[in-house]
Amino acid sequence: MLEPGRERAALRGHPWIFSGAVARVEGEPQCGESVEVRSAAGGFLARAAYSPRSQIRARVWTRDERETIDGEFFRRRVRAAVRRRAGFDAEALRVVHGESDGLPGVVCDRYGEVAVVQLGSAGAERWREAIAAAVVEATGCAALYERSDLEVRALEGLAPRAGWLHGARTDSTVVIAEGGIRYRVDVARGQKTGFYLDQRANRARVRALARGREVLNAFCYTGGFTLAALAGGARLVLSIDSSAEALDAARANAALNGCDPALLEWRGDDVFAALRALRGERRAFDLIVLDPPKFAPTAQHAARAARAYKDINLLALRLLRPGGLLVTFSCSGGVSPELFQKILAGAAADAPAEVECLARLQADADHPVLLSFPEGEYLKGLLLRKR
Ligand code: SAH
Repeated sequence: MLEPGRERAALRGHPWIFSGAVARVEGEPQCGESVEVRSAAGGFLARAAYSPRSQIRARVWTRDERETIDGEFFRRRVRAAVRRRAGFDAEALRVVHGESDGLPGVVCDRYGEVAVVQLGSAGAERWREAIAAAVVEATGCAALYERSDLEVRALEGLAPRAGWLHGARTDSTVVIAEGGIRYRVDVARGQKTGFYLDQRANRARVRALARGREVLNAFCYTGGFTLAALAGGARLVLSIDSSAEALDAARANAALNGCDPALLEWRGDDVFAALRALRGERRAFDLIVLDPPKFAPTAQHAARAARAYKDINLLALRLLRPGGLLVTFSCSGGVSPELFQKILAGAAADAPAEVECLARLQADADHPVLLSFPEGEYLKGLLLRKR
């Protein structure tokens, strides 16, 4: 039962019930168990999964009182999510995007015949087998791998877990094609579920902008933006990542696509240090991509994260030739699009540089954002031009 006046968010369709809004818990619900959420007046609001250890005390499954939470429920929801993406032209895509698909804590990415699930909440964990069965049925994938090794699981009191759930294979890698570019994805050892599917549309945009340009791709991971820029006719691409494993995978992807090694330069380095070093070497670029990891997992980390974002963007603006493009991202939940733009304005003022915004960028359409759940918009980017 909620505190008086705290039912508004739930009534508007927001799927999170915070601990501070809960007045009373009846009985002793287990971790992940389905509970009824009621207003202070006693009216039914939702059925939700109970998370006793998390600040997000319950995550809404349904607001329909007649709907029961069982295996059928997950079959319906997963099937609807898959159907919503019918006609989406990609062999690697996100098929379930958590809250945005009515399945809080459940992520599923598909790489051809291999699906990968990530269960990040107590409720998702409790219904693990039903969710796995629903994914196999709705996608028809031959194999399903579980990557429930997210840090957020600790906040829910859940231990990390990874492994095959269906159709076990000895090789955890899959080769996917995106816009005709081939990438080897390792679903067991890669970051997230193996690949940054959310950047698909932005990689295509970089590809369309790259012709004749000298490109710097900072935080390159397995070479997504690197190969996109090269396919778009870049004159040269310098890629930086601090992970030797990621760089090896990126080089292997370049080889897989028969790229000319003379057009590719690689640096295993910390981006903060590398950007300073490049300035010392008097290097300059016509297109820079900055796609750093999450500096601010939550709003509490926003101040420190803001400094880090400002730092790399300021350094990047200084490395950019006049007329050069900066494609810069933040995937921090704690940094809003407005704050991100302010940070960039600060970096431009200090560079100093006159900078115009050509476009606002976001995750691709297989990562939808529900208007009732703005937190779903974790990835934001700006396409900027230095005058
Ligand atoms: N742009 C990529 C995804 C980037 S993920 C794509 O589209 O596929 C972020 C990457 O930053 C990871 O590969 C991680 O190894 C790297 N990284 C994290 N901190 C870093 C740092 N300080 N310096 C360099 N690389 C870093």
